[in-house]
Amino acid sequence: MKLINHWIDGVEASGAPGRTGPVYNPATGKQTAEVAFATAEDVDLTVRTAKQAFETWRDSALARRQSIMFAYRELVARHRMDLARALTAEHGKTLDDALGEVQRGLEVIEFACNIAHLLKGDYSEQVSTSVDTYTIRQPLGVVAGITPFNFPAMVPMWMYPIAIACGNTFVLKPSEKDPSPSQLSAELLAEAGLPDGVFNIVHGDKVAVDALLEHPDVAAISFVGSTPIARYIYTEGTAAGKRVQALGGAKNHMIVLPDADMDLAADSAVSAGYGSAGERCMAISVVVTVGDAADRLIPKMQERIAKLKIAPGEEEGAEMGPLITAEHRDRVAGYVDAGEAEGATIVTDGRGMRVEGYEDGFFIGATLFDNVTPAMSIYKDEIFGPVLSTVRVEHYEDAIKLINDNPYGNGTAVFTNDGGAARKFQNEIQVGMVGINVPIPVPLSFYSFGGWKDSIFGSHAIYGPEGVHFYTRQKVVISRWPDPIHRGVDLGFPQHG
Ligand code: NAD
Repeated sequence: MKLINHWIDGVEASGAPGRTGPVYNPATGKQTAEVAFATAEDVDLTVRTAKQAFETWRDSALARRQSIMFAYRELVARHRMDLARALTAEHGKTLDDALGEVQRGLEVIEFACNIAHLLKGDYSEQVSTSVDTYTIRQPLGVVAGITPFNFPAMVPMWMYPIAIACGNTFVLKPSEKDPSPSQLSAELLAEAGLPDGVFNIVHGDKVAVDALLEHPDVAAISFVGSTPIARYIYTEGTAAGKRVQALGGAKNHMIVLPDADMDLAADSAVSAGYGSAGERCMAISVVVTVGDAADRLIPKMQERIAKLKIAPGEEEGAEMGPLITAEHRDRVAGYVDAGEAEGATIVTDGRGMRVEGYEDGFFIGATLFDNVTPAMSIYKDEIFGPVLSTVRVEHYEDAIKLINDNPYGNGTAVFTNDGGAARKFQNEIQVGMVGINVPIPVPLSFYSFGGWKDSIFGSHAIYGPEGVHFYTRQKVVISRWPDPIHRGVDLGFPQHG
């Protein structure tokens, strides 16, 4: 069985012998590799390596950092199919979707290619006689990234290109469920000319995460994953004096008003609900229909769901692949059972679906519920699978209130042809990322990504300008140089120039 090792100081490293975890191909249900699980000692060694590399990397010329990022950008673009295949083999998403994931990661690398411009400070001349003031942004030191299974290439790329370009060194703890895309990224970074020790990977579970949280030489942690773990990372990390950004889970609602283009709304709900088998933090999981919209929308959705091609991700024309593990598939099926028992109407039932030749794969079909109420578990919990709930409300105000009362606030969308209704939505909705006739409003790399409420802990959104701010500290310099005038001792605050 292939063993996936850590990546420390520019080479593959086995770490202390001991625990490992299984990696599966979700389409076949077969184990394809073992991944090493780091001990606290492995983490300590990695952080110390990164700390040493920081001493020189922090002073590397901006032009050099940019040229390494440009080289890395070219390599990722050239190897996009290799990354996508590695992704599909361990995550299960379709190859087409995996290529899209690599593309969105690539865009953050492109953003980081412009780091010299992004790190420019402010300058005010003559704030007092012969005195100038300016700001510089400096890297933090060793920063860590802890990432989820659902975007094993893109989410790490939301973090390390910017962190590294800002002059930090990086330790990545990827999801233990699909570790290979990170490994390939490490090889490409080395090929691009990144010095050893600047980018490192420790694989593993809670043991590795806790060791990073406790390590005194880790200055900051970026986390993306589920809300309970995000809250834990934020609480523990900040208590240990670290800067932390922790992005959590979601329950994304899409409102459909009666005047909406119902074909567009049906296409969008089905794409955003079942794309990547619902394993996206920006997936739509609740469709809120206002007035009589449901009666026109649901038959159109049903038609489209019936035509979805559910197949192994690498198969030509596959639209939806399997879920990540057998346990997760069973958990999702359990939610469908619960929704039925709690009285929701099943419009299409994804349970019991089989893909011929892949009977051991972790597949489940697409489920659509109607007449869901906020008290039901399928409404309250993040299912993270291909299950869409329809909640019918009478008035637009009720739909807005439903979203604003929800503890999550990652993404949301409204479908309407009424500009005033759309403007009201963008103004009143308590959610960080808002789509108007766009179901998955993921910001481009030159904006920043972040939800509100229980979908984020910490004050910085991820990547884009906020990423640069997260990975740097501002220093203000007040300089008098040269200053021929000496005023002598003055214990007061200066009142004039
Ligand atoms: P997860 O929270 O289970 O795991 C995320 C990371 O935390 C992994 O690296 C994992 O090894 C580690 N981890 C798991 N349990 C831990 C524990 N008890 N202590 C310390 N570390 C632990 O999430 P997941 O299942 O990999 O990913 C799916 C979740 O991520 C969903 O909730 C989804 O909404 C969320 N997500 C959010 C965003 C966002 O941008 N807000 C993006 C992608 C995914």
